[in-house]
Amino acid sequence: MYFIKDNENLKSFIPQQTILDLLEKTKNPDRAKVREIIQKSLDKNRLDPEEMATLLNVEDEELLEEVFEGARELKRRIYGNRIVLFAPLYIGNECINNCQYCGFRITNKTIERRSLSLDEVVEEVKALENKGHKRLIVVFGEHPKYDAKFMTETIKTIYNTKFGKGEIRRVNVNAAPQTVEDYKLFKEVGIGTFQIFQETYHYETYKKYHLSGPKSNYYWRLYGLDRAFKAGLDDVGIGALFGLYDWKFEAMGLLYHTIHFEERFNVGPHTISFPRMEPALDTPLAERPPYAVSDNDFKKLVAILRLAVPYTGLILTAREPVEIRNEVMKFGVSQIDGGSSIGVGSYHETDEEKLKRSQFLLGDNRTLDQIIEELAEEGYLPSFCTGCYRLGRTGEHFMEFAIPGFVKRFCTPNAILTFLEYIEDYAPEKTKIIGIKRIEEELKNMNNNPLKEQLLEKIKKVKEGER
Ligand code: SAM
Ligand code: SF4
Repeated sequence: MYFIKDNENLKSFIPQQTILDLLEKTKNPDRAKVREIIQKSLDKNRLDPEEMATLLNVEDEELLEEVFEGARELKRRIYGNRIVLFAPLYIGNECINNCQYCGFRITNKTIERRSLSLDEVVEEVKALENKGHKRLIVVFGEHPKYDAKFMTETIKTIYNTKFGKGEIRRVNVNAAPQTVEDYKLFKEVGIGTFQIFQETYHYETYKKYHLSGPKSNYYWRLYGLDRAFKAGLDDVGIGALFGLYDWKFEAMGLLYHTIHFEERFNVGPHTISFPRMEPALDTPLAERPPYAVSDNDFKKLVAILRLAVPYTGLILTAREPVEIRNEVMKFGVSQIDGGSSIGVGSYHETDEEKLKRSQFLLGDNRTLDQIIEELAEEGYLPSFCTGCYRLGRTGEHFMEFAIPGFVKRFCTPNAILTFLEYIEDYAPEKTKIIGIKRIEEELKNMNNNPLKEQLLEKIKKVKEGER
């Protein structure tokens, strides 16, 4: 392993003072200016830092509603009503880092440590496939045991595990930053997105809460995904853990990170995640986050992220309670996890002890089926589609965004077909009825779509058992 020296003089693409200055300078924004910025986003342009700062400073209730409506409109126009579903799969909770907010940190003596064997991974994957999942994100602590070889063997095992009619078609990864050489192993096994959250972009705050281990090096992490790009892995996800520092600063950090990728690699991140800190076993910081984000600010955050980076997938997790999830989904969240369990081994084992192996506690404990039923009832189209991913990195989100009519022509039909597969193979009777009704509504909306005939043909085949 080699590390970038953690040195404050190293050139950072997060201009800390500029961010603070912009947030100060744009206070009490002018109504006309805010409207102009919303329009720029609706015209499918990424916003500049000063424009994002202006939106972050909107306090007036009416004007804020215009920001929310802008985000909803962008979602309606570009992404439609599909919601992609995935599940997190925790492989091991051993960790040599000392992140003060995380239940897996090295100094936590209460948590029960466990790493899944490949046989156990197979059992977990079967249990997930049996619920209908097609996409996973594998999660690892940082530990010499979980080197790139171990992680990629695990991923291969997941792709090779087929249970009944199930298969996992896309495995995303959330793990420690790797070297260029190690990222190449991930590329070889065909992962989806490699995610690394910076946690906080604010240097002093980062140093304060990452006390030891490789993760205490701010720059090794900040440049972590640049090395992925160098290894040819250009499907990357960024994120910040909200609650460590001022949420507006972190939102600006996410935008500067995006701009850095655009300038250096000609493409932004595939996804952005914005978890709020949740309580974790024996973890005092997580009980009382120093900069806790209120529900109202959280809604504002999601709407402004949607407007600032209109082409990027936004991921919301089961960390959020149901009501918040439902509200921010309207602002353009494109992926959520469903039926999540975050104890190591907890999909195929049901012991009460699993909480003792969990990283933190979830706010939404509905099963995948409950979530699907509710999504369908609310007019969403649950999707397990992985079609674009097979066409390459620029697939998901970007094509939807860049090519007029792409969603109507490809995404909606694919979402319908993968939802129908779920209904046929896994859904209980009640969800079946709701789901079929939902699909019929979608088909009605496709009356002028020349692809409708073709889709009806494929629907017939899925009903006859073809996958
Ligand atoms: N160990 C790797 C790392 O830290 O990058 C990857 C796995 S780590 C379990 C995944 C993410 O969980 C972290 O990046 C952090 O943002 C999030 N996390 C940690 N503690 C959390 C908490 N108490 N509440 C919510 N999210 C948390
Ligand atoms: Fe380890 Fe990741 Fe948790 Fe930090 S956030 S203690 S690196 S698992």
